[in-house]
Amino acid sequence: MLTFGVDPALPTLVRPGSRHPHAVVIGSGFGGLAAAVRLGARGWRVTVLERLAQPGGRARVHRIDGHVFDAGPTVITAPHLFEELWALCGKRLGDEIEMRPVAPFYRIRFDDGTEFDYSGDAAAMRAEVARLAPGDVDGYERFLRTSRAIFEVGFEQLAHRPFDRWTDMARVLPDLLRLEAWRSVHGLAARHVRDPKLRTVLTFQSLLVGGNPFATTSVYCLIAFLERHWGVHFPLGGTGRLVRGLVGLIEGQGGELRCNAGVAEILVKDGAACGVKLESGAVLAADIVVCNADSAQAYRTLLPARHRRRWSDRRIERARYSMSLFVWYFGTRRRYDEVAHHTIVLGPRYRELLDDIFERKHLADDFSLYLHRPTATDPALAPPGRDTFYVLAPVPHLQSGTDWRVQAEPYRAAVQRRLQDTLLPGLEDEITASLMLTPQQFQDELGSFRGAAFGLEPVLTQSAWFRPHNRSEEVGRLFLVGAGTHPGAGLPGVLSSARVLDSLVPTAEEFAHAA
Ligand SMILES: Cc1cc2nc3c(=O)[nH]c(=O)nc-3n(C[C@H](O)[C@H](O)[C@H](O)COP(=O)(O)OP(=O)(O)OC[C@H]3O[C@@H](n4cnc5c(N)ncnc54)[C@H](O)[C@@H]3O)c2cc1C
Repeated sequence: MLTFGVDPALPTLVRPGSRHPHAVVIGSGFGGLAAAVRLGARGWRVTVLERLAQPGGRARVHRIDGHVFDAGPTVITAPHLFEELWALCGKRLGDEIEMRPVAPFYRIRFDDGTEFDYSGDAAAMRAEVARLAPGDVDGYERFLRTSRAIFEVGFEQLAHRPFDRWTDMARVLPDLLRLEAWRSVHGLAARHVRDPKLRTVLTFQSLLVGGNPFATTSVYCLIAFLERHWGVHFPLGGTGRLVRGLVGLIEGQGGELRCNAGVAEILVKDGAACGVKLESGAVLAADIVVCNADSAQAYRTLLPARHRRRWSDRRIERARYSMSLFVWYFGTRRRYDEVAHHTIVLGPRYRELLDDIFERKHLADDFSLYLHRPTATDPALAPPGRDTFYVLAPVPHLQSGTDWRVQAEPYRAAVQRRLQDTLLPGLEDEITASLMLTPQQFQDELGSFRGAAFGLEPVLTQSAWFRPHNRSEEVGRLFLVGAGTHPGAGLPGVLSSARVLDSLVPTAEEFAHAA
C-alpha cells in the first residue's frame, strides 16, 4: 500500500524492477543539498541542477586575494541538523568539519555606544540584562520560559511536519492560540520587558529569517531558546565548508551535482512532474522533481500557468515578501582584534527604520548593520595579519524602485563611514578586497522574486499551511524545499524543509515496487 502520497494511477518513468528511480533537485542551496542527501539515503538516484557556477545558493563562497568570503549564512544555530545528514551517510560531521562555538553569540552596539553581549551563558546573560535594564531581569526570565514553550511546539513539533492539508493546520490551532502566535515577536517581548533597548536585544533575531519583529508571528521568539539550547557555531573553513561537505556526501552516494545548469521549465505529464527542461534546451526525465529555487519565482517562471490553481501570478504578486539586503564583503590589511565575530551595529531608529524597510519600501539614509568577522574564529579565512569581513544592512526589496546600479556605491560609502566612526577606525586606508551584493543581484543572480533575501515574509498568514506546500498543491510528484516553503528561511528552517520530505516521498524501493 502506498502511504506517502504517490498516486498509483500516475505514469512512471521507473524501469520495471529498477530500485533506483530518479529524483531531480532544482537548486543547490542548503535546502536542495539536504534534500539530495536524504533522497540518496533512501535509495534515490539524485541529480542536482544548479544555475550558478558553484553550489550553495545564498551560501556560495567568494575568494579574493586570499580572503574567503561566505556570501550568506554565518550564524549556525542547530548543528545537529547537519550531523543528522552525515549520519544518514554513515559518517560523522565532526570527523570532517570542526564546529566552533561562538561566544558571545552577538555583541550588540546601540547608537549611543552602549554595548550588550548576548550569549548562551545564563548567568552572564542575567548580569548583562541587570546592567542594561535592572528592572527587567524577572521579565527576561519569563520571556525565556515563554521562548522555550514556543520552541517545544513550534520547532520540535511543527517544523519537520508537512502542512499540506488544512486539517494539519486545524490540529495545531489550539497550540498556536495558547502560545499567542497572533502577536508579533516584538509584541510578545514587550509583554515581558519594558526597556526599549532590551526589547531590541530580544527581537532583532527575526530579521535573520527575513521577518520584521513588529509583524512576524511570535512563534519566531523560539529563536532565543533555540540559540540557548544548541548554541551558535561557526565551522572552521567557513560556512562554505558545510556546502562542500554536503556535495561530498551526495557524490559519495552516487548522486551528481551539475553547475551552470539552469532549469527553464518543470515538465508535466498527466498532472505530474516528469522531468525538467534546462535553459540549454536539454531535457532530463525524472520520477520526482524537488524544487529548491525561490518558491514564488519557481511557480511564476518554471511551472506554466495552466498547471497552477493556487499559486497564480496574481496571488504571488499580492503576497508579502521579506526585506532584501545590501551586503559589502571586504578585507582589511590589518586585524581588528577587539571586534567580535558577530556584531549588530544599531542605528538611531528601530521601529521607524523597519517601517521604512517593510511597509514604506523606502531606502532610508540611516541603517542598522550586522558585521561579520569570521577571522575572529578562523584566522585562516584571510592572509596572515589580515581580517575578512562582511557587513549587511536590511533594505527594502525591489518594490522600493531603488536603482541599485546608481545607489550601490554611495550606500557602500555611507556604510564604510559608519563602520569607521564606530568599530573600525581608519578603515578607509585598510581595505584590500571589496565586493557588493545588492537586491538587484538577489533577483538576477539568485532568482529571488523582487530580490527578497529570505523569500515570503514569515507572517502568520503566510506560515505553515498558508505557505507553498512541501508537496506541491499544483502537480503530483513535485516537492518544494528551501526558504520559500514550510517552515521557512534560515538554516534550521531550510534543513527542516528537507526533513519534511522523508514523510512525503517514499523510499526508492517503495516507489519502484509500487510502479
Ligand atoms: C546575507 C545572508 C545572510 C544570512 N545569514 C544567515 C545566518 O547567519 N543564519 C541562518 O540560519 N540563515 C541566514 N540566512 C538565511 C539563509 O542563508 C537562507 O534562508 C538559506 O540559505 C536559503 O537556502 P535555500 O535552500 O532556500 O536555497 P538558496 O540558498 O536560496 O538557493 C537556491 C538555489 O537555487 C538556484 N536556482 C534558482 N533558480 C534555479 C533554476 N531555474 N535552475 C537551477 N537552479 C536554480 C539558485 O541559483 C540557488 O543556488 C542568510 C541569508 C543571507 C542572504
